[in-house]
Amino acid sequence: MPTPVTLIPGDGIGPSIADATVRILDAAGCDISWDRQVAGMAGVARWNDPIPDATLDSIKQTRVALKGPLETPVGEGFRSINVALRKTFDLYANVRPARTIVPGRFENIDITLIRENTEGLYIGVEHYVRIGDDPRAAAESVAIITRQGSERIVRYAFEYALAHDRKKVTLVHKANILKYSQGLFLDVGRMVAREYEGRIQFEERIIDAMAMHLVMRPEQFDVVVTTNLFGDILSDEISGLVGGLGLAPGANIGKNAAIFEAVHGTAPDIAGKNVANPGALVLAACMMLEHIGDVSNATRIRDAFESTIREGMVLTRDLGGTAGTDAFTDAVIAKL
Ligand code: NAD
Repeated sequence: MPTPVTLIPGDGIGPSIADATVRILDAAGCDISWDRQVAGMAGVARWNDPIPDATLDSIKQTRVALKGPLETPVGEGFRSINVALRKTFDLYANVRPARTIVPGRFENIDITLIRENTEGLYIGVEHYVRIGDDPRAAAESVAIITRQGSERIVRYAFEYALAHDRKKVTLVHKANILKYSQGLFLDVGRMVAREYEGRIQFEERIIDAMAMHLVMRPEQFDVVVTTNLFGDILSDEISGLVGGLGLAPGANIGKNAAIFEAVHGTAPDIAGKNVANPGALVLAACMMLEHIGDVSNATRIRDAFESTIREGMVLTRDLGGTAGTDAFTDAVIAKL
């Protein structure tokens, strides 16, 4: 029985990199039945809704989606796409692997960053504080960290480490200053880490020192787990260490659904020109294949993709080549 997967091609370069990705997965012989749905501007065009109910219903059924980049329409009355998806499916773990394909400044980077996706400073509780005549004399943003939220993300990081044959989890925090919120995250992290003692190493780093260690000696890190804001920043820093967003996949994982995507956006400047690099979405699809249990096709596709890039004969423009999306996709398929 083919595995049903919701496919949201997305906006801008989305349809072209989604087609390329589907072409590669089909050529590899992946047993998937794609349920094509729309969101973003394509959702607005069809249903006047950037995240139509039909799309949410499909993900509720399939519990797994591959999503191209989406443009959130500007203007009142439209739901925020990411918030709607995160809330509907409680996608608490944002997983961003970054690996050296072509050695640049660093050679052996292989880091997976796991970011808590639902708490911290991103819960949207903010307000101005009036002092005297000034209604905006100050502003407050609330950060919520819960024991339950911390426990499930740190546990996710350790389970990820076990499942992917990783050796070490680094927990990143700022508990020396934010003694309550970050302190709770650290305390819970230490408690969870004890359960994995002897199987997975555990270390702690303060966020500012971590930012420095990452640019000085990134090879020392393996799986990294942290709270929402720190994860947002570190994940882009880590993508930059291995060649930028064109090769950066991401997954948003919840208990009942998982959504896999490229980290980059819709790239409106190159949309429709057959020059986009489909790599990030292809790597996201490999994560998706692992998630649905097709590890062998994930490995085959990743190997074909990486060797195409390492050979350097057929590369898209962002990687210094001249090949179009179609030619690059053909080159990957030829190596399967
Ligand atoms: P962007 O990632 O779309 O583009 C940044 C730069 O990187 C551009 O020069 C673009 O040409 C280049 N680029 C991106 N992906 C590429 C690829 N696959 N191949 C070659 N070059 C690539 O960021 P932006 O311009 O800030 O955002 C454009 C739109 O995308 C906005 O509407 C934004 O809201 C949306 N966006 C969506 C997502 C998502 O759905 N996950 C993420 C980020 C941004």
